[in-house]
Amino acid sequence: MSIDTRLLGIGMTSQRTRERLITRLREKGIADPRVLEVMREVPRHLFVDEALATRAYEDISLPIGNAQTISAPFTVARMTEIVAQVQPRKVLEVGTGSGYQTAVLARLVPEVYSVERIAPLLERARRLLAELKVRNVRFRLADGTLGWAEHGPFDAILAAAAPAEIPDSLRQQLADGGVLVIPVGQGRQQRLITVRRRGQEFERAELDPVTFVPMLTGTRR
Ligand code: SAH
Repeated sequence: MSIDTRLLGIGMTSQRTRERLITRLREKGIADPRVLEVMREVPRHLFVDEALATRAYEDISLPIGNAQTISAPFTVARMTEIVAQVQPRKVLEVGTGSGYQTAVLARLVPEVYSVERIAPLLERARRLLAELKVRNVRFRLADGTLGWAEHGPFDAILAAAAPAEIPDSLRQQLADGGVLVIPVGQGRQQRLITVRRRGQEFERAELDPVTFVPMLTGTRR
């Protein structure tokens, strides 16, 4: 089915389920009106398999193939809110996955750089964002633990996969005053961490427990 047909197909009922999701995000503490607006606008059902589209506006993560998942809307909103606070011009995302978080960021940030290590996921996200006429994103098939030095420093870096320890290249590619938001830890549950750069100082804060796929090294065709 074409994107246009699928966009129409979602119809009025899902308009209501979408609105319900926004209410839920607000209840769970998402306060930034820009973030709530973007979460309302970006059609999450297009980023999951058609068989799962009816569940796309529930606050849950869903499989996207290649043993990966699209993050739950609350998690996307929470991380986006942290990034939006610094009013970034340039953001690096590690772990494109479905491209949903990428599309959310692209609405709020002039330049988005997104790195994914699994080729078929990257290609699908690239195609979908092109169809949605999102033009301010550059993609790269690469190991995101290394960041994307040519385009750094970044005002914010958002990682959607969890390393055991924060990769130093990500810290180093932060601009002064920039923020890194990343799940850290091994095992099923990790901790959402923010790192703020002040000159050569890095301020670390621990936030909510979260569940992400592991950040792996190397790339896969
Ligand atoms: N925000 C995405 C989350 C996808 S899951 C979404 O909502 O769809 C996390 C993604 O990180 C997976 O696609 C996984 O392949 C990718 N990933 C894991 N380690 C990585 C690395 N070192 N570099 C780049 N991408 C990585």
